[in-house]
Amino acid sequence: MNNLFSDTKEAFSLKSNFELNRAFFLFKIIGNSTFVKLSTSLTNFALKFHLPVTPIIKATVFDHFCGGVSEEDCIPVINKMFIKNVYSVLDFSTEGFNSEKEFDDCLRKKTSIIEFAKNRKEIPFAVFKPTCLGSTDLFKKVSKFEKLNELENDSWNRVIQRFDKVCSKAFKQNIKILIDAEEVEVQNAIDELAIKMMRKYNLTSPIVYNTVQMYRKDRLSYLGEMISNQLNDGVIFGLKLVRGAYMEKERNLAVSMNVESPICDSKDDTDKNFNSGLDFVFNNLNRISFVCASHNENSILKVMNMMESKKLKSNDNKIWFGQLYGMSDNISFNLASKNYNTFKILPFGSVKNLMPYLIRRAEENTSVQGQTGRELQLILKERKRRALL
Ligand SMILES: Cc1cc2nc3c(=O)[nH]c(=O)nc-3n(C[C@H](O)[C@H](O)[C@H](O)COP(=O)(O)OP(=O)(O)OC[C@H]3O[C@@H](n4cnc5c(N)ncnc54)[C@H](O)[C@@H]3O)c2cc1C
Repeated sequence: MNNLFSDTKEAFSLKSNFELNRAFFLFKIIGNSTFVKLSTSLTNFALKFHLPVTPIIKATVFDHFCGGVSEEDCIPVINKMFIKNVYSVLDFSTEGFNSEKEFDDCLRKKTSIIEFAKNRKEIPFAVFKPTCLGSTDLFKKVSKFEKLNELENDSWNRVIQRFDKVCSKAFKQNIKILIDAEEVEVQNAIDELAIKMMRKYNLTSPIVYNTVQMYRKDRLSYLGEMISNQLNDGVIFGLKLVRGAYMEKERNLAVSMNVESPICDSKDDTDKNFNSGLDFVFNNLNRISFVCASHNENSILKVMNMMESKKLKSNDNKIWFGQLYGMSDNISFNLASKNYNTFKILPFGSVKNLMPYLIRRAEENTSVQGQTGRELQLILKERKRRALL
């Protein structure tokens, strides 16, 4: 595709020759699914038995996809990207948290990141995954409207309080907060909490953003109901649109439960649904602040066209674009060079805690037709331009 996003000089302007070659090597090997499967098992084994693999992971895949171990580690990356007008959203890895103590620790970490972001204009958003603040089983029960026993009720009230503490901290520090979307089984409860927070904190400006996964067949009606519900009168909706990250899991679950899959039947249907979601957002822009979280060039171009037809400035504060650090630099850096509001999600934490995230990145990049092919093609083009071949 020959468009704004083919400018590899801009896309990789922050990458040294060494980093560019490392990216080429990484995408080349993660394009091999057998290699990914084998190295995933070996790495998990090595970490479990404390074999000294951390420095190797750190110098390769970790440094490519993550900002560092601590907030301070991320500062050089944040500053470098900001020179190019790309903002950062720090995402502390919180997978596999299961106890009340871990949920409280996670709450403290999330509020401390908001504190860190305060007065740093290069970090306009914070983010959290809802099930890092409460048990997944409880989210499932609440999502199914099951009656909770007394203990569960107490636990759920603590989840509500943790949500409120994160959102109220964000509100006080004027940092926008993104609530990630998860599996369908837990999402009703997340949506309920998110709208509760919006009713409380989004009355004068958008602080709380909920995520809507457009690979779900039911999300357009969800959006319609959200906006027409009178309880939401006066709310400025913060919405982050994504396609959705749990397709295989959702489909397998639907098969095992012998029910219809909640996910669109084809990629084409998901794309159409995503586009309809964009139309919905732009038809209701008087009430919505929007994040387009995607690595799909057509989706980004569609949003840019819709902004133009609405005569919005490229940096209109209602519209943001988001990509993951280490991926689709051609989109992020070229958007930012044209003054569109663009951020990178910058994961940080220990190598061990970030392994599930890194494995997901490797697994979703194993298709040579998909993202990896695109990344490799762009890196090759830039290596040629720099005469590195
Ligand atoms: C900044 C950012 C934040 C994100 N936050 C979340 C989040 O909170 N929750 C979440 O779930 N995901 C999240 N994601 C991931 C996102 O949902 C997608 O998985 C990922 O971005 C790939 O989709 P795409 O639009 O970038 O590109 P594309 O490559 O165009 O689309 C790939 C996506 O299309 C869908 N798809 C692929 N094949 C099929 C098929 N056969 N049938 C139906 N659908 C298909 C899947 O959703 C797949 O992920 C986030 C992504 C970004 C960039």
